[in-house]
Amino acid sequence: MTNELLVLGSANADLVVEVGRRPAGGETVLGGDTVVLPGGKGANTAVAAARVGASVALVGAVGDDGYGSVLRESLESAGVGTSLVKTSARPTGIAYITVTPDGENSIVVSPGANSDVAPSDVDSLSFDGVRVLTCSLEVPLETVVHAIGVAARAGVRPVLNLSPVAELPAEALRQLDVLIVNEHEAAQLAPDWRGLLGLGPASAIVTLGSRGAAVVTRSGVVEVPSIEVPEVVDTTGAGDAFAGALSARLAQGDDLVQAARYAVKVAALSVTKAGAQPSYPTAAEVRSLTG
Ligand code: ATP
Repeated sequence: MTNELLVLGSANADLVVEVGRRPAGGETVLGGDTVVLPGGKGANTAVAAARVGASVALVGAVGDDGYGSVLRESLESAGVGTSLVKTSARPTGIAYITVTPDGENSIVVSPGANSDVAPSDVDSLSFDGVRVLTCSLEVPLETVVHAIGVAARAGVRPVLNLSPVAELPAEALRQLDVLIVNEHEAAQLAPDWRGLLGLGPASAIVTLGSRGAAVVTRSGVVEVPSIEVPEVVDTTGAGDAFAGALSARLAQGDDLVQAARYAVKVAALSVTKAGAQPSYPTAAEVRSLTG
């Protein structure tokens, strides 16, 4: 089947354990039962896009182990194609997350197989029918840069969620159709939002948390306010929900402002439920919103 959207990025197993307090060096504390959740910015983005109806495949890697099988199954059950997720000799990427009673997370990420996503994996891709390639980090920067160039030359729109901020070659930035950053990342990159275009991309989106997002193009800045949500339960993965939904709508022909209006609804719904992927809404849930 042809995919209108490809997402290049990480897939991780998130191992979450609640602890009364964090151990100091050399100390052991007992925690609650381990909860295993599918995560990783690439997988989250692809799942968000699939939930709202995009035909999407993830380009990534998992290990030949139990967590790898869990991640493949969770992607497939969300409707994300996994034929471009290779099986690496390294273990599946894992995020070890401890949560204290104040709700604060401490995270150690072991990238494992994600480090094996290579430029040669991009060279073997077919871009037939693909309209958008969305990249997130947590896979080697060299691969992301290569993918942006290959996509641009193939007439596919490259989108990059530059989180956390990394230094990209000027040429890759110039080849980007849409650069997505949150407001802290934007401030690291340029003195103001319009300044983001000076880095090279055709357009930029700055996500603004509960305030929504700003769409920056050569014709100016359009602020897209968030919708109101009854209660904020968990903002984990809201940025990935936004990037996935935006990419889905761009691949389906929306212009950037239309796509951003849709993506703020998806991301707002995602903060009303716990977790990242489990919180992402379907197209029907987005339609049921008024406004
Ligand atoms: P995260 O790291 O939590 O995934 P981020 O820092 O990359 O997110 P944010 O700007 O915080 O990015 O959030 C992304 C999008 O999620 C926002 O543009 C907005 O649409 C939505 N969002 C985030 N927080 C809220 C909120 N409290 N209420 C409504 N929408 C929200």
